[in-house]
Amino acid sequence: MISFDFDYYKPNTIDEAIEIYKYLSLEGKTAIYYSGGTEIISQARIDKIRFDAAIDIKHIPECNIHGFQDDKLFIGSAVTLTKISDYYLFPLLSEICKKTADHTARNKITIGGNICGKVPYKEAILPFLLSDSYVVIAGVGGKKAVPIAQIFGEEPQLRSKPRLNAGEFIIQIITERDYTMLPYINIKKAKQGKVDYPLVTIASIEKDKQIRIAFSGICPFPFRSAEIEKDLNNDSVAPNERINAIISHLTAPIINDILGSSKYREFVLRNALGEVLFKFRGENNA
Ligand SMILES: Cc1cc2nc3c(=O)[nH]c(=O)nc-3n(C[C@H](O)[C@H](O)[C@H](O)COP(=O)(O)OP(=O)(O)OC[C@H]3O[C@@H](n4cnc5c(N)ncnc54)[C@H](O)[C@@H]3O)c2cc1C
Repeated sequence: MISFDFDYYKPNTIDEAIEIYKYLSLEGKTAIYYSGGTEIISQARIDKIRFDAAIDIKHIPECNIHGFQDDKLFIGSAVTLTKISDYYLFPLLSEICKKTADHTARNKITIGGNICGKVPYKEAILPFLLSDSYVVIAGVGGKKAVPIAQIFGEEPQLRSKPRLNAGEFIIQIITERDYTMLPYINIKKAKQGKVDYPLVTIASIEKDKQIRIAFSGICPFPFRSAEIEKDLNNDSVAPNERINAIISHLTAPIINDILGSSKYREFVLRNALGEVLFKFRGENNA
C-alpha cells in the first residue's frame, strides 16, 4: 500500500505532459514522470519517495515508437524490456533486456525507466553507450537530441543518474542501424541465475577492428571508458597484461556488497575480459 495521496495524469502528447508539469510546478507541487512504475511503486510503498503527482508518459505515441526509419533505430522510452527482447531489432540490446529481471517484471519495466531509475545497474544503457546513440529529451524549453554520453557524463558521481533538468523526460533513443548489425558479445554473471542483479555485465562490440566495451555491476554506475578501450585494443602486449591495465584504470573502486566481494567481482571481471579477447582476437589469457 502507498501511504500518501497523489494525483495521476495521463497525457496523450508531449506538449500536454510538459504543460501538466509546468502547471504543477506553479502550484508548488512535486511531480514525477511515470513509465513502467515498478520502481516508483516499490519505492513509494516503503516511503522512500513522495510526490504530489505522477505524470504517466506511456500513452504518448513518440514514447512508444519501436522500429527503423531509414538508417536509424528509434526506441521510445516507454517500450518495455519484453518488447525489446522479443522483437530483436538490436540483438545486443535484446539479449541484455532478456537477462534483466524476471519475465513478469520485464513486461512492465521500460527502457526509459531502466536508464533513469535509481537502481544503479541500468544494464540496458550499455549498447547505447557503445553505439554513440542519441537521446531525445522533452522539457519546458522544447525538444532536443543529445549524445547519450552527454547526459551520462564523465564525472563518476554524475554517472549514476541522467543529467536531466527539472521537468525534462526522455522521449526516445536513436541508434544508427549499422551499430545494430556489428559483431558483439554480452556476458552477465550474477550470484543466482541469469536474471539477478549483475556481479558483472559486459557488453562489447567490434567496430572498424576496434573493440568497444561497457560495464555494469563493477562500479556503482554503468560506464564506458576511452582509456580502458585503449588498454583492451593494445595488441602489442599479452592479454593478461591488458587485463591488468584495465583493472588499474577502473574509474571507481569495485563494488563490495552482499552480492559479491570486490575481490570476487574482480575475479569474475578478469574471466569475462578474457572471453571478450577470445571472441574478438582469438586470444587466450591463460
Ligand atoms: C524485479 C526487478 C528486477 C530488476 N532487475 C534488474 C536487473 O537485473 N538489471 C537492471 O539493470 N535493472 C533491474 N531492475 C531495475 C529496473 O530496471 C529499474 O527499477 C527501472 O527503473 C524500472 O523501470 P520502470 O519503467 O518501471 O520505471 P519507473 O518506476 O516508471 O520509473 C523509475 C524512475 O525513472 C524515471 N523515469 C522513467 N521513465 C523516464 C523517462 N522516460 N524520462 C525521465 N525519467 C524517467 C521515473 O521518474 C522514476 O524516477 C529490476 C527491477 C525489478 C522490479
